[in-house]
Amino acid sequence: GERFSIVMVGDGAVGKSAMTLRFLRDQFHDEYDPTIEDSYCKHIEVDGQEYTLDIIDTAGQHEYRGLWNDQFLRAGDGFICVYSLASMGSFQELVGFRDQIWRAKESEDIPVVVAANKSDLEEDRTVSAEVGQEFARMSNAFYIETSAKTGFNINEMVLELVRQIVRT
Ligand code: GDP
Ligand code: MG
Repeated sequence: GERFSIVMVGDGAVGKSAMTLRFLRDQFHDEYDPTIEDSYCKHIEVDGQEYTLDIIDTAGQHEYRGLWNDQFLRAGDGFICVYSLASMGSFQELVGFRDQIWRAKESEDIPVVVAANKSDLEEDRTVSAEVGQEFARMSNAFYIETSAKTGFNINEMVLELVRQIVRT
């Protein structure tokens, strides 16, 4: 089957690595090294078709972002833009990541899923679903709420992104 690169982007500590681990191995660890940046391979079936996914789990502090090589983003076929629904700051950071993707890909019609992670922390929510959905709509993206901790919607998030990639 076809092979796609999926890039996880978003502020530190929003759960990119935890979501990656949940998707790859259906595991969750409370402690995860915030500096780990790696890529992983997984075969999946979506709507009866086999695909090979390279998942790129990015990491890094603000000061490195400007140095992000556009070529690195250009290699992505689809992007998961992650924020924590318990962190307004992480949501506000997302527009910068999205713009960086659009710039690198020289298009605004790019397969993107906006993932509002940590849905298990509903009592700590500071970003409403409406605000998240509106950002996704303006980004030509699919909105989904996820939890790496419980596994809620993690597979669905990837399936939806693969469907978007296949459509484009
Ligand atoms: P990253 O910097 O975006 O890769 O974030 P991490 O995956 O390292 O996660 C940062 C912290 O948030 C860790 O302590 C995780 O255990 C925790 N975390 C990640 N996803 C979730 C989630 O869905 N729910 C909760 N409650 N905690 C999470
Ligand atoms: Mg990480």
